[in-house]
Amino acid sequence: MVKFGTSGIRGRFGTEITASLAIQLGACLAEKGRIVVGRDTRTSGVLLENALVSGITAAGGEVVRIGIAPTPTLALAAKKFSATGVMITASHNPPDYNGFKLFNSLGEEIGSEEEKMIEEKLDRGVKIEAKWDAIGREIRDKAAIYEHIELVLGLVDAAAIRKKGPKVIVDCGNGAASIIMPYALRQAGCKVIAVNAEPSGFFARGLEPNEENLRQTSEMVKAVGADLGIAHDGDADRAVIIDENGELLGLDAQLAMMCGEILHEKKGLVVSTIEAGLCVKEAVEKAGGKLAITKVGSLWCAREMKKQKAVFAGEPCGEYIFSGGTPVPDGILSGLKFVELFCKKGKLGSLREKIKPYPMRRAKYAARDKEAAMRKIAPEIKKAFKGKVSDEDGIRTDFEDGWVLVRASGTEPIIRITAEAKSEEKLKEIFGKAEGIVRRLI
Ligand code: MG
Repeated sequence: MVKFGTSGIRGRFGTEITASLAIQLGACLAEKGRIVVGRDTRTSGVLLENALVSGITAAGGEVVRIGIAPTPTLALAAKKFSATGVMITASHNPPDYNGFKLFNSLGEEIGSEEEKMIEEKLDRGVKIEAKWDAIGREIRDKAAIYEHIELVLGLVDAAAIRKKGPKVIVDCGNGAASIIMPYALRQAGCKVIAVNAEPSGFFARGLEPNEENLRQTSEMVKAVGADLGIAHDGDADRAVIIDENGELLGLDAQLAMMCGEILHEKKGLVVSTIEAGLCVKEAVEKAGGKLAITKVGSLWCAREMKKQKAVFAGEPCGEYIFSGGTPVPDGILSGLKFVELFCKKGKLGSLREKIKPYPMRRAKYAARDKEAAMRKIAPEIKKAFKGKVSDEDGIRTDFEDGWVLVRASGTEPIIRITAEAKSEEKLKEIFGKAEGIVRRLI
């Protein structure tokens, strides 16, 4: 049985994600007419792309292949061709994973109603009966990358970047960013050092751009005296920023900084999720904006942004959606916006000091059946904590001096705990309590 998570269909290649699934999915989508197909650099990507294209064309659909590209590039191409988009990626997951993420003809992620219809169709099985004179055609579009670069360069202060000519290290993680970000930065006028930029599908570091995986790159930023470092996940919808001292800005501080900067340019509403730290809310309010909170996932952020005509939406994992940009998170534009911030306001490490994040802890725990585990965990959490409870996405309890959130990941077999408090002592207390319950019941 195929199941969509919060980021499309995702799983291990060879068992959950197979060539036959790709053919079936292709045939199932073919009735939508034209389909734009892109992929990240995973070694299983070519095979899955070929299978998907076979399925689509066998059922008479038309294909536009854009090859290796970031997810936001694919979304942009789907919009250009007024077509359904399929991105073959597993984002930051390990190299043996892969998956399919679907977009509508506006370049937006498709919603759960449509996903359910596709799931049911796949469960019933799709008949593939290609007739020689009814096979769909395919074309290749080589412009998608250039069009994306053009879009993002139009959304930053190009003159300010060119004047400063900053030295930037970009760590592409051997993912889709490899074929766009070094070029976009160079075109913007940066002095670029690109690392892990061979799009080989063999990843020199873990794809999640976290402190552990970025240790070498962080050291390099300091060693070569770069002004900043930018690191991406596998499909480059995320960007994580390293300051001039070789320190990660930190997910919440980084988001808070960008919220402040966007609101400085244009006042309005900003969207984030229930996982965002208190410093994000404080930065938004300080800059005279308003914050709207959604469930975790770029789909919810994008929808809320559209509905409320927000100026910006950002998740603390490093996924940001900009007004006027792609309707999905764009790591390429995010990276360039931090380059612009440096060129206009100075060293990011110094700017970061103005943000005061509170003690926070995020941790994940393997759970074979995360839904079953959550059914046991939720009532226990409700019993253990006294505060304002929200169960829209996992269980979040807010107290006067902190909050704790326990939720099942949308993409991996894990339970996540996020806790934040105004003192280390309080954090230790609430985190320990939540962790005790999770460990006991998974
Ligand atoms: Mg990603």
